[in-house]
Amino acid sequence: MKLTILIFFVFLYSKVYAFNCAELWTKGFPVDGYKESFPCNEYDSVDIPSGKLRIFYASGISREDVETLMPMIKKAAVDSHLVYGRFDNLPPSTIIYTGLKSPKGFNAEVPFFHAEDYEPRPVLVFTNIKTESLEQQQQTIAHEYFHVFQSSNFAKSWFEKSAAWWVEGSADFFSNLVYPKTNREWANAEAYDSDVPLFSQSSQYSTTAFFQSMSNSWSGTEGVLSLLNNQDKTDSPHSFDGQWKGLSKFTSIDMHFEKFAKEFSLNKIQDTGGGYLNTHFVQPLVKAIPEFDSTQNIEVHSFVVNEYRYKLLMGYRYFVTTHSMDDSNSTFNYLHEGKDKNWQSFYPSYPAVIDLSCKD
Ligand SMILES: [Zn+2]
Repeated sequence: MKLTILIFFVFLYSKVYAFNCAELWTKGFPVDGYKESFPCNEYDSVDIPSGKLRIFYASGISREDVETLMPMIKKAAVDSHLVYGRFDNLPPSTIIYTGLKSPKGFNAEVPFFHAEDYEPRPVLVFTNIKTESLEQQQQTIAHEYFHVFQSSNFAKSWFEKSAAWWVEGSADFFSNLVYPKTNREWANAEAYDSDVPLFSQSSQYSTTAFFQSMSNSWSGTEGVLSLLNNQDKTDSPHSFDGQWKGLSKFTSIDMHFEKFAKEFSLNKIQDTGGGYLNTHFVQPLVKAIPEFDSTQNIEVHSFVVNEYRYKLLMGYRYFVTTHSMDDSNSTFNYLHEGKDKNWQSFYPSYPAVIDLSCKD
């Protein structure tokens, strides 16, 4: 009789003390339909310089999910802290495996507008993540933790609309610093659209290609962080014009973008973990041979990687001039497809001459 009572008591005890994750934020749990109540269990908690990193899972998920996903989530969150902590402190956060399918189709999400500044940043992991390999899952968590980093190191108002090009692209790039060999971001880099400016990419993740190229330069990863900070100071952050201005006034951006464009065209953007990103033009613009004694104008836009191909004829002399339609300095390069592909610059000694005329 005594034994029966004891077992019943233990069962009741464990039920009562499951946690309500909706109480972590004054706005409730950050998924519609669960604002008031989200029963969860604490898996672990880790001390970090700013406070605590807490790890939860939804009550009622399978034992298999607890045993496979939770160690991965903990490891990836801690790994991210170790890498991003070199740049600056991360705020306290709470990462929760929700056991839910994401209403927006995300594998994971950081709805940090949901949290007050004094509350832990929410990091939600959805069942969608199970479609990825273990390595990809870890890099996904690292991507989300860069959003946590962004949330305390850049102004909150910047994480809207047009700023997405750097919010997502930089999160992809930095997640690769945590897991350099995984290359989950490669498919995103491949989606970079050469027809539109860097800050108007329809695939917001694709700009990881630019950040990778820039970090490989003398400016390094610190230079990338400095560029992101620079974006904070433009006059109208949520407009095409604001993004253009923010980029244009960044020191040496012309050199960085020129380097990116050259590497882009040659598939030479080296990945942190080795190998090269697969970048390609949407479609090379092959131009007709300019006729004798004629002029052809090409209008190119800032921060666009353009490729025009001309077949030049022997017996002619070609003059190439560039001029900027605004006040910015512009550089103009051509790729000579000779034996050894190499870029040669027309700037600053233009008009440049490509002389294929008969010499004798
Ligand atoms: Zn993201």
